[in-house]
Amino acid sequence: MFRADLFKGKRILVTGGGTGLGKAMAGRLMELGAELHICGRREGVLKDTAAELAGRTGGRIFTWPCDIRVAAAVDEMIGRIWQDHGPLDSLVNNAAGNFIAKTEDLSPRGFDAIANIVLHGSFYVTQATGKRWIAAGRGGSVVSIVTTWVWTGSAFVIPSAMSKAGIAAMTQSLAVEWGPKGIRLNAIAPGPFPTEGMTKRLAPTEELERRMIGAIPMRRVGNLEELANLAAFLLADDVGYITGEVIAIDGGQWLNGAGGFGALTELSDADWQQIRTAIEATNAKDRAQRTV
Ligand code: NAP
Repeated sequence: MFRADLFKGKRILVTGGGTGLGKAMAGRLMELGAELHICGRREGVLKDTAAELAGRTGGRIFTWPCDIRVAAAVDEMIGRIWQDHGPLDSLVNNAAGNFIAKTEDLSPRGFDAIANIVLHGSFYVTQATGKRWIAAGRGGSVVSIVTTWVWTGSAFVIPSAMSKAGIAAMTQSLAVEWGPKGIRLNAIAPGPFPTEGMTKRLAPTEELERRMIGAIPMRRVGNLEELANLAAFLLADDVGYITGEVIAIDGGQWLNGAGGFGALTELSDADWQQIRTAIEATNAKDRAQRTV
């Protein structure tokens, strides 16, 4: 389905599209024919990314310096996209912030710094876009980037875990509320994809990174192309019956933590032989006792 005209004539906004995952998704959507709009707080970063992606893909891309924590600024940005270019067809809620900290040491400002971007900001952008779709009687589709912590919670990143769970709740709630209006909402829960934002703040040392990869069943981090392909898949009209879903793309990382025996993937054949011998010895003892 990833044909070059998949998103021909489609207009898509990617928040935080100047860097990392957002940039990768913006580039892929342009390769597939979309007109791209990206926003972020740093105008220089947005302009550099736009020039790079336009040069690489030959597609059209527009930049919007905007702080999504400010509801009025978001509404103005979305209004201007509509006025100057035309209605958006899709939205990717990707902008976020995060850092690791002991929760007892977090200040209210530290909590708000994350919740204001992730929880509040994602709502402002989604609502500003959705209300225009509804007013115009047209459909649209939203993909939000969350984390697998929406299912498990996560220690040491409480503001992010709580806010991402809120986005997952928004995705499911609005899939029902706005479904009759032709608006689809889905979310992607990525595992570790190396980006500057993720690597610097979440796996800042080699030892932490090594441990993280050891806990992933596929024993590697994700490729940005894989993530961008999943976003394109979910946004495409071709899968127009999928809504309200949160889909993990994490090499099995969260399931490994969820089952109790994930660490056993580290065992050697010799370890397994020893375990088998021990189990057989226990079974033999049980049988002997039963026959007495
Ligand atoms: P990143 O490079 O730090 O991207 C975050 C982007 O959000 C930046 O472009 C940033 O631009 C923008 N942003 C932050 N605050 C903003 C605000 N107030 N208003 C507008 N834009 C804002 O990190 P990333 O790794 O690509 O993460 C992208 C998304 O993937 C996030 O939602 C993250 O939670 C999620 N995710 C990433 C991973 C991973 O392994 N990388 C794993 C799970 C989930 P400015 O600073 O210029 O505003």
